[in-house]
Amino acid sequence: MAATILIVEDEEDVALLLRYNLEAEGFRVLGASSGDEAIEQIQQTVPDLILLDWMLPGLSGIELCRRWRSREETARVPIIMITARGEEAERVRGLATGADDYVVKPFSVPELVARVNALLRRSSPQLVTSVLKAGDLELDRTSHRVRRAGREVHLGPTEYRLLEYLMRHPGRVYSREQLLDGVWGNDVYVDERTVDVHVGRLRKAINRNRAADPIRTVRGAGYAFDERFAAAT
Ligand code: CA
Repeated sequence: MAATILIVEDEEDVALLLRYNLEAEGFRVLGASSGDEAIEQIQQTVPDLILLDWMLPGLSGIELCRRWRSREETARVPIIMITARGEEAERVRGLATGADDYVVKPFSVPELVARVNALLRRSSPQLVTSVLKAGDLELDRTSHRVRRAGREVHLGPTEYRLLEYLMRHPGRVYSREQLLDGVWGNDVYVDERTVDVHVGRLRKAINRNRAADPIRTVRGAGYAFDERFAAAT
């Protein structure tokens, strides 16, 4: 599953250029042209990285950055801000607000892509490694195989994608809506209870013989891969 990047940019040509180049690199790209749209988008899908234009209609980039940094589910999502020349003061404020990096318009696309990759490698090494491991659980993205305590576990395609999605960010709580969007895709209509059914099947397959359950049900919120699981097994 490719990393998801959210582009928040009101200038259509810049947004298109970014989208085109990032999609060519294999990223899944989401877009928003205003702060409100970006906030709505993040309620659906928490991206792996955000490219944030500083001068936006409505909420400014700084305001968005501050807001995302203060919320648990977005606090660690890397943010690269995009500023215009001459916005030195904005850049300083942006970095102080918690942006991880910045580029100045007009920017070089290959350089921006390199920065995106470098930040992702640091923030989410599990996005680029081929084997995800937590405790006695192992998921191999190359062969699509899952092992628990060295034994192969047979999963259906949906359960496999669900486990991979959850293992990418141990501890992050996903709502059923976010899981539907990330695992099933947003163009498929399925009931939110479908998520519960597949989580149930996944648990049954990986937790044989009363093995510890790596999936945490968060009442009223959704599901997470338990970040304490690796230490417990
Ligand atoms: Ca702008």
